[in-house]
Amino acid sequence: IDIPALFKRLGLDTEQSVSGTYNGQWVQSSSGSTIESYNPSTGSLLAKVQVPSTQDVESTIAAAKAAQIQLRKMPAPQRGHILRDIRTALAEHVDDLGMIITLEMGKIKSEGRGEVVEFLDVADIALGLSRQIGGVVLPSERNKHFMGEVANPLGVIGVISAFNFPIAVFGWNFSLAFICGNASIWKPAETTPLCAIATTRIITSVLEKHGLPGALCSLLVGGGDIGAKIVADPRVDLISFTGSEARGKDVGVECAKQFKQTILELGGNNAGIVMADANLQLALRNIVFSALGTCGQRCTSNRRLFVQRSVIDSFTSSLVSAYESASKRIGLPHQDTTLIGPLHHANSIKSYLSAIEDVKSQGGKVLFGGRLLEESEYSDKNMKGGNWILPTICRFDTSEGIDIMKKETFAPILYVVPFDTLEEAIELNNCVAQGLSSVLYTQDISSMFQWIGAEGSDCGIINVNGSTSGAEVGGRFGGNKSTGWGRESGGDAWKQYCRWSSVTINWSNEVGLAQGVTFD
Ligand code: NAD
Repeated sequence: IDIPALFKRLGLDTEQSVSGTYNGQWVQSSSGSTIESYNPSTGSLLAKVQVPSTQDVESTIAAAKAAQIQLRKMPAPQRGHILRDIRTALAEHVDDLGMIITLEMGKIKSEGRGEVVEFLDVADIALGLSRQIGGVVLPSERNKHFMGEVANPLGVIGVISAFNFPIAVFGWNFSLAFICGNASIWKPAETTPLCAIATTRIITSVLEKHGLPGALCSLLVGGGDIGAKIVADPRVDLISFTGSEARGKDVGVECAKQFKQTILELGGNNAGIVMADANLQLALRNIVFSALGTCGQRCTSNRRLFVQRSVIDSFTSSLVSAYESASKRIGLPHQDTTLIGPLHHANSIKSYLSAIEDVKSQGGKVLFGGRLLEESEYSDKNMKGGNWILPTICRFDTSEGIDIMKKETFAPILYVVPFDTLEEAIELNNCVAQGLSSVLYTQDISSMFQWIGAEGSDCGIINVNGSTSGAEVGGRFGGNKSTGWGRESGGDAWKQYCRWSSVTINWSNEVGLAQGVTFD
């Protein structure tokens, strides 16, 4: 990658430390502290970004609030037109934005670009919705009374995002929040600030061209302490938080104390179930994608795999062969031939290795991987200094009492376990705290309907013959249970960004009381 040229095209001036605060203007922070952005493939420093001071956080929230007061006056279809121009500007930079994701987060080129396409797709949905958001008109039981629901803008939306989707998650939130008449304040992961700065530059240049305050798309780059300040501020009306269960719990509790609305998109522990009657080749290809895509660092990555006993041995050996060939394509994520990039954090290597130790001590067998990639195995000398590991398959004979399988390790480790009946497999799917995504591989129609019904998967995403990851944006995206119950993107997710009121208008000259009550 020609990094200086990429940075130049995206307006990232990295000569000095970059401003990480935008509230209508890029603020040179007086905090004196910076965070560093590293390339996870090589370990090299990409840029230093200034962390906002307490005063910068304060003035950014105030600016977003003032900007929202201006936006709420604009009719929603006009907001849609502005979003259409934002979409056009982002589309003009789709390859560069995809590449900055690849560089800073470490996902492969096609997944990096795909993430920006997700933003464009949600912007399409939001543009259409800008002429449709509204409530229903209801029949009143009272004579000459009108009843209905109205959706008004909510206010200021705090979007706190995780490192693994450094642009798309903001895109899902911003697009819907904007057409619903809200300002957003984005606090990206501290390890992916450049993705956020580049995206903010593009969006705010369009807002400014339309004479709108750029603070409608404010940015505060920093760590959890900056996120916590946004959460604590009463001027922020909704927190859309994407991240780990542990941090999500802190955020959820703080918001509950203030009765503040939340969208929580937390960890997943996603399972696939392979029935003996499945198209096994199709199952294999889907599982390889969902377990290895983004190097196992998607919230929807397939982590647990239940295989019907009669086919488990042959299926597992095909899986091992597929991992052997995929692992020959571990490499620098911007190269076209690469399938598997690095882990994002150096710290993730520790949790990967510690999970492998737990697998062994809890009676599992490592069938493939389970170790760092050695330097002699690097496909490019520039990989030195990066976070390189081998994707891993572990086999357990039972999942009962296996603690390591109950938690999300954010790395490509797949646990394979046998089962006998579909009922047993559904029970295994549902027995963990998390409830994000799940998939059943079968050709039997009754099994499919059992799986999606009341006695089926308890997850927010239930698939058949697809993969746990790679959702389309048209459906509501989110999980159940400790994944957080939030919904984003398609369906009626937009409703969460509105202030809802039931409205009754008496257009008669009589007092009309409901439920037949008289008060004369
Ligand atoms: P993380 O919880 O460490 O951080 C997420 C964000 O929260 C970061 O921006 C961080 O700075 C901020 N933060 C930390 N402490 C905070 C606090 N007290 N108050 C406010 N903000 C705070 O998560 P991560 O390591 O960046 O991301 C990986 C996790 O995200 C995984 O668990 C993954 O499953 C989850 N995730 C979930 C979804 C989903 O849709 N369900 C999508 C992507 C990622």
